Amino acid sequence: MSDDSSAFGPWPSLAYVDSRLNRAAGRRGDPDFLAAAAAAPDTRVYVVGGDLIVLARRGEAFDPLFRSAEAMAFGPAVETVFLGFADKAARIGHGLTPATAAQLKTRPDLLVTDLRSIAVGGLISPALLPPLAAAKAVLAWHARHSHCANCGAPTKSSEAGWRRDCKSCGVFHFPRTDPCVIMLAIDGERCLLAHQARFAAGMWSCLAGFVEPGETLEEAVRRETFEEAGVKLGRVRYFASQPWPFPMSLMVGCHAEATTTELAIDRAEIADARWVSRAEAGLMLARQHPDKLFAPPPSAIAHHLIRAYVEEGAAVLENPAGAGAR
Ligand SMILES: [Zn+2]
Repeated sequence: MSDDSSAFGPWPSLAYVDSRLNRAAGRRGDPDFLAAAAAAPDTRVYVVGGDLIVLARRGEAFDPLFRSAEAMAFGPAVETVFLGFADKAARIGHGLTPATAAQLKTRPDLLVTDLRSIAVGGLISPALLPPLAAAKAVLAWHARHSHCANCGAPTKSSEAGWRRDCKSCGVFHFPRTDPCVIMLAIDGERCLLAHQARFAAGMWSCLAGFVEPGETLEEAVRRETFEEAGVKLGRVRYFASQPWPFPMSLMVGCHAEATTTELAIDRAEIADARWVSRAEAGLMLARQHPDKLFAPPPSAIAHHLIRAYVEEGAAVLENPAGAGAR
């Protein structure tokens, strides 16, 4: 793995990872413990309303953490989740309705915006992002699972927000995390990048897709790349993973060796794909490409997959699996 003397400077932090939260999962079923944690004066609360996050303006800076009473004053919680402890102080997620959160946009003492803008813009300390990502993902799961998938009866939150129980049929429902592979296919000194219609003009990234039932990560990497670009892959090497709470995915980043190079692009899935030289990919990372093409920002795992390849070339395929994890 590259060191800080790289042409690109220090390795940037990947958003939503490196959580220092102690989740205290064993205490989630203890109501006395949870009540004490919620009432403690140093407890701080993340406020989420669907895709919107509420931040306090504190001078020039933004803060996603509120006192419990401040959070309650914004509006009653549709759901709450006990996230755990950071520096021995409890962290709680307070879920507003999206409409209630949107109403807070008029307040001059607050900034109400989406999580991507917060991460890409570096609006808050990186250490505060992982619990916020967890809160957003769990609260999004609650919002979509009000009824039992087994019998259709209403379900109720339990285990401090980490389970929903159906009193009618007795089934417990747990928060979902949907694995999604994101991969950089490599052909020696070229790598495969794609442009999607929903991307900003000029942005090129890795191919990605959801893992299907009954599939390994490696199989999903090979299938998605063949379906979207017509390229067959051999070796697949795990690099790193990233929680991706949009709404509740886990991105599994891999490098992979191309065994064919002819492109057959599925235009229903992606707008375009092309082989990009390692040097050109470096210009895209540095935002110095002559055609103004660029790679995703450092907050995204795609940036890290591309950077590792630009720095090390096809040798990234020889690295120990998980070389990107830090
Ligand atoms: Zn049920």
